[in-house]
Amino acid sequence: MDLLVKDGHVYEDGNVVRADVGVRDGRIAEVAEAGDIGDADRVVDASGSLVLPGMVNAHTHASMTLLRGYADDLPLQTWLEDHIWRVEAHLTPEDIRVGAELAVVEMIKSGTTAFADMYFEMDKVADVVDEAGLRARLGYGIITVGKDDEEARDELREGVEFARDYDGTADGRVRTMVTPHAPYTCDDETLRESAEEARDMDVPLHIHLSETAQEVDDCVENEGVRPPEYLDSLGVFDGDEEDSGTEAYVAHGVHLNTDDIELLASKDVGVAHCPSANMKLASGVAPVTALLDAGVTVGIGTDGPASNNTLDMFKEARHAALVAKTRENDASVVSAREALDAATRGGAELLGLDAGVIEEGRPADLVVVDLDAPHLTPKHDLVSHAVYAANGADVKTTVVDGEVLMDDGVVETMDEERVVAEAEETARELVERAEADEVIDG
Ligand SMILES: [Zn+2]
Repeated sequence: MDLLVKDGHVYEDGNVVRADVGVRDGRIAEVAEAGDIGDADRVVDASGSLVLPGMVNAHTHASMTLLRGYADDLPLQTWLEDHIWRVEAHLTPEDIRVGAELAVVEMIKSGTTAFADMYFEMDKVADVVDEAGLRARLGYGIITVGKDDEEARDELREGVEFARDYDGTADGRVRTMVTPHAPYTCDDETLRESAEEARDMDVPLHIHLSETAQEVDDCVENEGVRPPEYLDSLGVFDGDEEDSGTEAYVAHGVHLNTDDIELLASKDVGVAHCPSANMKLASGVAPVTALLDAGVTVGIGTDGPASNNTLDMFKEARHAALVAKTRENDASVVSAREALDAATRGGAELLGLDAGVIEEGRPADLVVVDLDAPHLTPKHDLVSHAVYAANGADVKTTVVDGEVLMDDGVVETMDEERVVAEAEETARELVERAEADEVIDG
């Protein structure tokens, strides 16, 4: 074996069992009774610890780490238009690289092994993913609102070229997607063509959808139908007929009625549920129970770290379970197991990855959670602990593609101290540039 994760409490097929996990050539070669796998090139001691599939963050904008805590406690449109977009206009490619580095270090440290990212300068993000050793599904956020025809075509071209050029890079750990930002920030021709290009390239299409009540009202007023029906009329949900896991999936899906949910289910469109961002921006609570009942694949995303404000998927899984119970007034909905599965296997399905499960033959993307802590004592139910009591800081080891990215809390692929210092300085300079410009503009 290349790697042995020794004698952990392993979450396998809905249950926790004491086992050894053997890894060969980046894949899980064997899950055996503890003590059964002899030697390996490298051994991670997981005794007394919980071994989980790595968290899959199904929706984020990683480089927005630089704007963490810059503008809070504001409604979405004010937050976005008066604060975030104004600073984002000053982002350089180098800023985006630095922001992505901070994000991947945070993700490795908090047990995320794969993430879906939609932003700008995605070649920089792809390079950072390569360096960090993580797995990702990346897309350039296409926005055409306020742009003329030629600029709109350039946006689409940039999105398509990135998806084509970078798919399969970083030894296959970087996959791509076509990501028009939202129905209200892209014109109908761009939405239609984005879907055609995604099908041609056999990559998923990912888009924000029905995040706020205002978005739904505006769509009904402008297009005569609700956002899901509008996208469907443009062919956005017509995925690959061969069912190769490359269908469309949407972020948020907060304001969905029964017809919307039926439409998503019939078109095999999944939803990346982002409970913290939806709560923080007071957008509402997605109907996750109804989505699951309808057979829609649900993953969990943090959304950007400026609207969360962390990339901790353990917190996100907990929030997913809690908001569903609150929404339905029923404590039995979205159990700890369902939340954990959505945060791992569900996300992997949305991203079209084989990962998200600890099983022989799967990619070796897994994390070891230290249980030796007061807040994880006593140990009646470790799945309950994973969702309701643990947090990302309890992760001590992170493995992606069979490579150890962090062990005993020490990130091995990135210089954490350098990344944090550089991000602090870069974020300060970015905000200074943006605010100086505001003064000049009057
Ligand atoms: Zn988003």
